[in-house]
Amino acid sequence: MLHKLTVHELHKKLKNREISAMELCRDVFKRIEAVESKVKAYLNLTEETALSAANAVDEKIKLGEEVSFLTGIPAAIKDNMCTKGVETTCASKILKNFVPVYSSTAVEKLFNEDIVMIGKTNMDEFAMGSSTENSAFGPTLNPWNLKTVPGGSSGGSAAAVAADETIFALGSDTGGSIRQPASLCGVVGMKPTYGLVSRYGLVAFASSLDQIGPITKDVTDCALVLNAICGKDPMDSTSLDAKIPNYTKALVSDVKGLKIGVPKEFMGEGIDPKVKRLTEDALELFEKMGAIIEEISLPHVGQALSAYYLIAPAEASSNLARFDGVRYGYRTKQKVEDMVDMYSKTRAEGFGNEVKRRIMLGTYALSTGYYEAYYGQAQKVRTLIINDFNKAFEKYDVLVSPTSPTVAFKLGEKFEDPLKMYMSDICTIPVNLAGIPGISIPCGLADGLPVGLQIMGKTLDETTILRAAYAFEQEFGFKEKPIL
Ligand code: GLN
Repeated sequence: MLHKLTVHELHKKLKNREISAMELCRDVFKRIEAVESKVKAYLNLTEETALSAANAVDEKIKLGEEVSFLTGIPAAIKDNMCTKGVETTCASKILKNFVPVYSSTAVEKLFNEDIVMIGKTNMDEFAMGSSTENSAFGPTLNPWNLKTVPGGSSGGSAAAVAADETIFALGSDTGGSIRQPASLCGVVGMKPTYGLVSRYGLVAFASSLDQIGPITKDVTDCALVLNAICGKDPMDSTSLDAKIPNYTKALVSDVKGLKIGVPKEFMGEGIDPKVKRLTEDALELFEKMGAIIEEISLPHVGQALSAYYLIAPAEASSNLARFDGVRYGYRTKQKVEDMVDMYSKTRAEGFGNEVKRRIMLGTYALSTGYYEAYYGQAQKVRTLIINDFNKAFEKYDVLVSPTSPTVAFKLGEKFEDPLKMYMSDICTIPVNLAGIPGISIPCGLADGLPVGLQIMGKTLDETTILRAAYAFEQEFGFKEKPIL
């Protein structure tokens, strides 16, 4: 039953030599054997290298070498982060058989702490989606109800954590892809400040929005993983050269006098009444604990979705130009006339429908004569949204809202209607546009499915978010687990 425990619980056991890393690793793979055929969280399991990594950890512990919090802990990595020698597909046919020769910085940092990588997790193709149904290799299912989606795009990572098929996972979040699946799967997920975690080796979707972050079983683990992966990286010029605190210092159960703003735009139309009720209950609990709650307005967030669906596809259309059948992975087997014909046949076969839709949308928005009207206009809206948040944070320490407007929805329910699917991120997208940090933590169940609470903070103020999240977690005590 070791797979049920958290990073900090297991760390104690490993350090005291109550258990070995090998035992822990075997236990997690046994769990995977029992439930993975139902959940389908992984695209690739790396059992052999995991066992030898665990063995190496045990040797280190035997020799009395220092162990960090993550040493020997099994971890799952979203399949859009490069892992040296291990296939990295972004859940796309076009990257099938692509084996990177280097690891992304975030993953490398985890390896430096001697984590045990269990495998690569399923996702929406190139991180485009909110349900993991856009994976070219079939969907992941939500462990709470196998007829529903786990959210996306980091659905595999969130489902793996929820089903105890790993101890923690990394995800990436461009418009909500860590927080929304964390919400739908009843786990903790954080998108750090843009630039806090290096994007080097993260396959680019929308470079001005993408961030890597932790998906964990509790807030303490979130702080521990964030400690390990953040920091300036010479390989990513957009990574921040900021003074980084020890995030575990934030884990104090005290929110007395904390000023919480509740944006009314996130509590209105489109939010399921049950989700809204649990959010209000959570706010009431915060108030009981001594926080000050006030309704506020972010007047421009209503335009966030429209701005995002110009900016993100525009950046994606440029980033995905590199997948041409020459440099990476897949190439068409059809007879081709010339180079351009080879490119287009390869891309027509290699990309899925959602990715093609975004490339077309983005290319159009960037074309001569339209650039200012679409991309330029969207960037202006982005500035207005940034100003809204800045203004709110002059008065409030954190902002609170639902993470997702609904609980997990049925497989297929929104698949044919992209606009419906895009609405899944109305509460998370503004946070990416503003570059600020946000976390999702469980705040109860509605109809047996988890509801997530989003806490947003000032740029580089992950500490206050973690403090509020930790205090809530201690007081609320969400202990439910999916039955598999
Ligand atoms: N669901 C959003 C999209 O499809 C966000 C995805 C993400 O954060 N990677 O673009």
